[in-house]
Amino acid sequence: MITDTIAQISSALGQGAISIVRLSGKDSIAIANKLFKGPDLSTVKSHTVHYGHIFYNSKNIDEVLITVFKAPKTFTTEDIVEIHCHGGVYVANKILEVLLFEGARSANPGEFTERAFLNGRIDLTQAEAVMDIINAKSDLSLTLANKGLDGDIYKLVVDLRTDLLNIIAHIEVNIDYPEYEDVIELSNSIIKPRIEKLLTKINDLLEKASYGKVIRDGVKTAIIGKPNVGKSSLLNALLREDKAIVTEIKGTTRDIVEGSINIGGIILNLIDTAGIRESDDFIERIGIDKAKSVINEAELILFVLDNNQTLSEDDEKLLELTKEKKRIIIINKTDLDKELYHNFDHTIAVSALHKTGIEDIELMIKQMFFSGEVNLTDLTYISNARHIGKLKETKESLVDSIKAIKDSLPIDMVEIDLKNAWSTLGEIIGDTSSTSLLDELFSKFCLGK
Ligand code: GDP
Repeated sequence: MITDTIAQISSALGQGAISIVRLSGKDSIAIANKLFKGPDLSTVKSHTVHYGHIFYNSKNIDEVLITVFKAPKTFTTEDIVEIHCHGGVYVANKILEVLLFEGARSANPGEFTERAFLNGRIDLTQAEAVMDIINAKSDLSLTLANKGLDGDIYKLVVDLRTDLLNIIAHIEVNIDYPEYEDVIELSNSIIKPRIEKLLTKINDLLEKASYGKVIRDGVKTAIIGKPNVGKSSLLNALLREDKAIVTEIKGTTRDIVEGSINIGGIILNLIDTAGIRESDDFIERIGIDKAKSVINEAELILFVLDNNQTLSEDDEKLLELTKEKKRIIIINKTDLDKELYHNFDHTIAVSALHKTGIEDIELMIKQMFFSGEVNLTDLTYISNARHIGKLKETKESLVDSIKAIKDSLPIDMVEIDLKNAWSTLGEIIGDTSSTSLLDELFSKFCLGK
């Protein structure tokens, strides 16, 4: 049972037009009311905004707007008060400080969302989606996160659990009221096909999850190649006059160190490759280990070659080192009309200077990571690494249950695997209570006992 009232500055700490200090808990309105010179907040309607001043010890701290949200229709389901003050670091901190003097407790990171979860307003996937919205760097990742917040992932998991529950119920009913003399027949003819169907669904979700992960987290990308082949020019061409920059890019444009860019909807997170491109004999200079570690870390290599130069020893080494990776070989400076390098998979001829061939790079990146199968109208993809991990565990339990059936183990052994799968799925949405399976089972299938 949550009894205390929490307070925190909810806007980014820095100078801006306004800052928001938020309270949640049963004393929110009373605490704000003690400091507020304006309408009496204890009598105002829910979801209304009020103008006034925050005073402490008869001293005016700031002119503010206060929004009052009364339980239960609020983000946390508790009373919430939001104080919109002027956007200065000192003034926002001062208001937070006086709220704490009046009995609020300073909220930990994420505690408002945690309360929304603990109070049953959202499930764990929705709580995580809040963070995904904040971290989103592209339209696609924002859409994906919004689907999570809308409860689409929750529904997906609940549907899988319902399927499982039906299978478990079938086993339970049969243990209690055996209509099948032959348990092996029950397992093989009814239980096994159902588990297999569920496995197919989970496999499908896991396959799509790799797309989801790319949309959500982006692709770790290394742009490599000798000095002067045109790596910076290529990056500038990809950036399209800076429109694609989605995070602060560290370093100068001449020497990009790291940052994220949006290439046709996919986020490329650039890996710091500084060492690799400093000198002609970079591998010798930085050491093969450093080159390997950059290449290992990368999920995508953009390997730039100059159309007018033959391959150097370093080029050959890098080609060898990257041959197992997702790699695009970019032949640059094709405007200079010389022979092309041939015989590589995934080669694109471009002129970074004249910005030709750039769309082909975008297209190839999309094809490499989405195999052209992403359905942009239905982005209900599992993308969170934690969810993917749990889904894989669920799959393992189901595979075990099928193995148990094949090995003709007792039906309760099969049931244990299925119950494990059910609990693991529960961990995705934050339902970890061991009693909930029985509660749900009995509320759904009244066995009359
Ligand atoms: P980096 O050292 O690999 O980052 O190479 P830069 O991007 O700095 O390019 C080196 C030089 O090649 C610069 O003078 C660029 O203007 C030139 N350059 C880059 N791309 C092209 C291209 O497509 N065509 C031509 N003709 N010159 C290019």
